[in-house]
Amino acid sequence: MITIKDLHKSYTMGTNSLHVLKGINFSVQEGELVSIMGSSGSGKSTLLNILGMLDEADEGSYTLDGVPIKNLNEKIAAQYRNKFLGFIFQSFNLINYKSALDNVGMPLYYQGMKRKERTEKAMAYLEKVGLANWAHHMPNELSGGQKQRVAIARALASDPKVLLADEPTGALDTKTSYEVMDLIQGINDEGKTILIVTHEDDIAHMTKRIVNLKDGLIIDDTAVDQVRALSHV
Ligand code: ADP
Ligand code: MG
Repeated sequence: MITIKDLHKSYTMGTNSLHVLKGINFSVQEGELVSIMGSSGSGKSTLLNILGMLDEADEGSYTLDGVPIKNLNEKIAAQYRNKFLGFIFQSFNLINYKSALDNVGMPLYYQGMKRKERTEKAMAYLEKVGLANWAHHMPNELSGGQKQRVAIARALASDPKVLLADEPTGALDTKTSYEVMDLIQGINDEGKTILIVTHEDDIAHMTKRIVNLKDGLIIDDTAVDQVRALSHV
């Protein structure tokens, strides 16, 4: 589903340059649940942003579902992003003046889906994340965990090939974090390919494979022996 080869990325500020990714190689097969681990500043978000086509590498190649991602104009990039990818963020990134239902329906609106069908589909995704009863509530009436569930429903609404989550539990307490990871595990069980960035060991162990980043390189890439489940955390 994803293949990256010898990926490099530097940030330049004035005369200073910071080499953040120094030759990253890895691939992800369809249906995997992978975490990218590493301490703060190790380049996790930079890597995820490149995978999410929100940023471009300086060197190296990236193939997503067989499509080489390189030098795309913004219009094509946006089309691929909408078709291939769903995003989940630490800070949820919900639209505050729209209900939970309308937040989930946003990607469908942009696909041109009519209101009735959109509402039905968005409701089905809210049900899937356990929030059918909260459909008409506004984000500020929801807990952090509920907001992240809405964000997950929104990410799923366009049925992307891959879900990319940058510290999806970073703003949540421990118990809620495990519950959100339990939901993510369930979505993966249904076949969705999911990549999660986290700096938390506990969270990484609720995925099936841990890719460890350090100083711009992958220092370890290992299958998780015993994937943790909510029932035994
Ligand atoms: P992580 O997500 O692992 O904490 P990041 O990928 O966000 O790491 O950042 C890696 C390094 O790159 C950090 O030193 C950070 O300060 C720097 N960095 C990230 N984004 C930018 C940017 N847009 N401009 C300049 N430096 C950046
Ligand atoms: Mg980060």
